[in-house]
Amino acid sequence: MKVFNFSAGPSMLPVEVMERAKKEFTNYKNSGCGIIELSHRGSEFTEVIERAEKNVRELMDIPQDYSVCFMQGGASLQFAMIPMSFLPKDSFAEYAETGHWAEAAIKQGKFFGEVKIVASSKNTNYDRIPEIRHWHPSEDAAYLHITSNNTIYGTQYHSFPEGAAPLVADMSSDIMSRIVDTGKFSLIYAGAQKNLGPSGVTLVVIKNSFAAKAAEKVPAMLKYSTYIEKKSLYNTPPTFGIYMLALVTDWMKEKGGLPAIEKINDTKSEALYEILDASSFYKCPVEPASRSKMNVVFRLPSVDLEEKFVKLAKAEGFIGLKGHRSVGGIRASIYNAMTLEGVEKLIDFMNEFESKNN
Ligand SMILES: *Cc1c(COP(=O)(O)O)cnc(C)c1O
Repeated sequence: MKVFNFSAGPSMLPVEVMERAKKEFTNYKNSGCGIIELSHRGSEFTEVIERAEKNVRELMDIPQDYSVCFMQGGASLQFAMIPMSFLPKDSFAEYAETGHWAEAAIKQGKFFGEVKIVASSKNTNYDRIPEIRHWHPSEDAAYLHITSNNTIYGTQYHSFPEGAAPLVADMSSDIMSRIVDTGKFSLIYAGAQKNLGPSGVTLVVIKNSFAAKAAEKVPAMLKYSTYIEKKSLYNTPPTFGIYMLALVTDWMKEKGGLPAIEKINDTKSEALYEILDASSFYKCPVEPASRSKMNVVFRLPSVDLEEKFVKLAKAEGFIGLKGHRSVGGIRASIYNAMTLEGVEKLIDFMNEFESKNN
């Protein structure tokens, strides 16, 4: 049975990408081997990693004075690597507290130095991005850390703070889903498993002048300069993940790049929010101005109905709709790879479920 996969991550990848990877899996470009069997220093993989970087640079329109790195350890390792390198003992960093992952980043930051919360939506159960015009970020902070899309709570920044300290963003769940001015950020990072490929590779885009400010006494594998200088080939990189990321970014370019992808993502998310707003059965707990175009969260009139919804949806081929265990409810993750058809089919299912259970 064909299923529509709404999982938050790892999540679905474009079917064309999966088919191509399958075809090349045992015999990559007539080498007689699969790409995962080939040396990370050989000509085949060299072409792959160079293409992956080129695609990322093109798609995100990355300025020349930035480096693109492929790392491991997920976004969660970045939570620690960033303060380890960029939070000196005599300084402080500012963090916006907007959900589970922001909290996790804050916790790691505190391990290394002083952390100040510049804005928080904790007291409204993370139902919004605190209005940026009310923030008072300090120009003296070592950096300002934000989480551009809050995967669990279904909130997303639709503009970014400007003009303060170097801006650092966890974009794990909305990287390359829309046009973003990369030049406004000093560091962007994202675990690949939501929008870019499989788990196991982390994309880091870093401004070289920011990287130059890093602490010296940091182990080689946790140092940004190691990845910058060695072009992510200091040790064996996650070759399969980078290969998949190259395929996914090829696919994004074929689709027309971020302008085209953003448009489709707008259409998909608008369709879902429209039915949530029109219904008295479904309710979206997120403040309209902060709604995510990647993770659409909603509630039903009771927990029993939510369980029934998830179960029936699964039987009909819509999987991954259960909200995160910490918040409950329903979550439809509609990353780049989710088709408009998948969203329309889900909406049909929702309408039918409402009429039978209301
Ligand atoms: C999924 C997610 C993470 C965790 O990523 P890992 O790669 O598992 O460490 C961090 N931040 C955000 C915003 C996420 O969506």
